[in-house]
Amino acid sequence: MNREILISGIRPTGELHLGNYYGAMKNILELQEKYNSYFFISDIHSLTTHPKPDDLTRNVLEIAKDYLAAGLDPNKSTFYVQSSIAEEICELHTYLSMVMPLGDLLRCPTFKEKAKKQPDNVNYGLVGYPVLMAADILIHKGKFVPVGEDQLVHLEIARTIVRRFNQLYGDIFPEPRPIMENAVRIPSLSGKGKMSKSDNADSYISMKDDNETIQRKVKKAYSDPTRIYKHQAGNPSKEGCNVYHLHTYFTEKEMLEKIQLQCSNATIGCVQCKSILSDSINSIVEPFRERREKLSDSYVYDVLAHGRMKAKESSQKVISEVRKAIGLRMF
Ligand code: ATP
Ligand code: MG
Repeated sequence: MNREILISGIRPTGELHLGNYYGAMKNILELQEKYNSYFFISDIHSLTTHPKPDDLTRNVLEIAKDYLAAGLDPNKSTFYVQSSIAEEICELHTYLSMVMPLGDLLRCPTFKEKAKKQPDNVNYGLVGYPVLMAADILIHKGKFVPVGEDQLVHLEIARTIVRRFNQLYGDIFPEPRPIMENAVRIPSLSGKGKMSKSDNADSYISMKDDNETIQRKVKKAYSDPTRIYKHQAGNPSKEGCNVYHLHTYFTEKEMLEKIQLQCSNATIGCVQCKSILSDSINSIVEPFRERREKLSDSYVYDVLAHGRMKAKESSQKVISEVRKAIGLRMF
């Protein structure tokens, strides 16, 4: 069957959190039925911000388990680590970088955000991040990319690169399109920005957190700063209260309506409201955690070795075509 190609990657920069799960992995079961899917762990990408060898080795294994626990079937999709096809991806990245205007990359909001976070390490790779991401997608001629809202701007850059590249060298790549059905942006427990695995562990819920940890983290979550006393009415809206905002993703509709009413008339306090949120979150994390615990390291390594073979075959085909189109003869 000739299905459209879909690509999705995740950086092994820490523990998979609820945001990643909702933004990138939750739909994996449906996606792998519908598309010819490539799921990969972007270890090279993680070097822009997380250059620690021991962490990297461990995190790759951990994220691989997360993917499998989320329901990835290695027989239905191609599941691999980015560096296992480094030759092809890095080569393509170099060619793509020649058609990418530097100014656009420097203006990219995600670059500015990351540069602000690590002013002492504003490296070349950080600026080129979207170009490497374009190479990840195009190395298999990916057409669809399920992304969270934070990655949309990178995908737009990939589309620009394709247009410029194709204009110069012929119709080689499709313009990759985002799959937006799932474009959520789960806010951080701290109330500042989105959940990110490279932030403080108390600002996100890891998919490995046990019930006790979930309760503890949610208890400390930032809520409505204007509601000081329990007898005071709250502002149960996405903008008014971070905890309510989180409820909208994880709590059933009926309970959500109840909370909204009771918060508005001050019959429920923040402590109780947070306890309900913890329970909602735990009911999502618990089955995931249980599936994950059953996966052995050796099984996961076998799966990744198998994925490497499939990814290699596809990427070599594309890179040969690209070299030819560019006019490179490999002497
Ligand atoms: P880092 O802090 O290292 O950048 P991250 O948590 O932002 O980590 P990424 O590896 O950059 O995670 O992104 C993996 C996938 O998860 C992407 O598809 C991204 O859109 C999605 N994603 C990340 N954070 C969130 C979030 N808070 N809500 C929804 N989707 C998210
Ligand atoms: Mg990120």
